Amino acid sequence: MLTCDARDTWTQFLEYVKKRCSLTAFENWLSPIKVLNSSAEEISLEVPNIFVKAYLLDNYKRDLCSFLPVNVEGEPAISFVIADQAERKTPVAPPKPAASPIIEEVAPYELKLNPSYRFDNFIEGASNQFVKSAAVGIANRPGRSYNPLFIHGGVGLGKTHLLHAIGHYVQNTHKKLRVQCITTEGFINDLVDSLRNKSVDKMKRFYRSLDVLLVDDIQFLQNRLNFEEEFCNTFESLINQNKQIVITSDKPPGQLKLSERIVARMEWGLVAHVGMPDLETRVAILQHKAEQKGLKIPNQVAFFIAEHVFSNVRQLEGAINRLTAHCRLLGQDVSEELVEQTLSELFQTAPKQRVSVENILKSVSTVFEVRINDLKGTSRTLKIAVARQVAMFLAKEMINDSLVMIGASFGKTHSTILHACKTIENKIKKDDSLKRQIALCRRNIEH
Ligand code: ADP
Ligand code: MG
Repeated sequence: MLTCDARDTWTQFLEYVKKRCSLTAFENWLSPIKVLNSSAEEISLEVPNIFVKAYLLDNYKRDLCSFLPVNVEGEPAISFVIADQAERKTPVAPPKPAASPIIEEVAPYELKLNPSYRFDNFIEGASNQFVKSAAVGIANRPGRSYNPLFIHGGVGLGKTHLLHAIGHYVQNTHKKLRVQCITTEGFINDLVDSLRNKSVDKMKRFYRSLDVLLVDDIQFLQNRLNFEEEFCNTFESLINQNKQIVITSDKPPGQLKLSERIVARMEWGLVAHVGMPDLETRVAILQHKAEQKGLKIPNQVAFFIAEHVFSNVRQLEGAINRLTAHCRLLGQDVSEELVEQTLSELFQTAPKQRVSVENILKSVSTVFEVRINDLKGTSRTLKIAVARQVAMFLAKEMINDSLVMIGASFGKTHSTILHACKTIENKIKKDDSLKRQIALCRRNIEH
């Protein structure tokens, strides 16, 4: 029997976590978990797969302990039940594929992967943890967890790295599986070649014989109507046979200019976002890359670089390459001075100068879940009023401008700003959760 209390503690846990993780992470990982049973000593949870269990424990063990019963070892007392595979079919059941007439052997092929794009040298941080665990999960059980996995995010943030890492892993651990990694351009070129050579059937057979298909940069399929249809057929044929597909893109499926049919197919599985790593992760990436090149960077210098190079990981690599070259040529050790000399063109405007009221409002609106227009408005609802005061507080702290100017950007007087700052300063002395929310806003604004 499920008691009211059990539901309450789990709901409270979810409410707490919801404010601290991305919406995608929440919907993909936490929403599918069901409370089966509970007592004062233990709670029983049903998870769709072992992978969700690991995610929950890896990321929220401490929080779970605060909300749920704890066992003698001080661990959350949860018994997990893995939902029956059969119950977890894709929401729209695809039509059954026609029996395949292919008996002919498919030609051997070459799998081209970047040898250095592996899981073990992919540095994890809050911005890519979700997508990395999804990728690892899929590499462990191709075709049996989320299908397709759709990875999207900006340039140079590690999408191709993860795609190839899945390829390496599958190749090494599931030796019998046929895995291929292609760029969307590569797929189109293949199709053009085979049309020219009248060997389209052979090409179709090849792609449809795969167990794992990794497709990089699907955005290049936009405006290529004829190719889109063939891609969609290949896609459906593989998915219908429970063959794994992983796709990367610079945008989420819904923003791609592709047919509704293919967008819907891409949304069937798991859509995961990869973002820019935060400062600490950037430092870890820098240190890791430097180590690989045999370069020693003092931590302080690594922070200095990471603070200035913040738009993508490829630029961080560029910085390390340049530094390595200079140090070798000049026979010098890495110092802040040398870094400044060598990397000045790479360095972008310091984060502090980029902070604007708009940035602050955007971040506060996301973290506090209120609309920007409400923050700018006059509503006195407690939730909105607190969020608005936080925005003012952050503006005073983070923008190097007079109180009068800051007040003007909010359409308020300088004394309103001062009052808001005092109120928030007092509140955070007593309210840890508010303090954490403000820290989160600050981090979002800075990076
Ligand atoms: P994208 O495909 O998203 O444009 P890439 O996968 O090509 O980006 O990544 C750009 C470079 O940054 C690659 O050399 C990759 O190894 C490196 N990189 C990106 N993210 C990470 C990470 N989290 N840890 C280590 N290296 C990374
Ligand atoms: Mg790429």
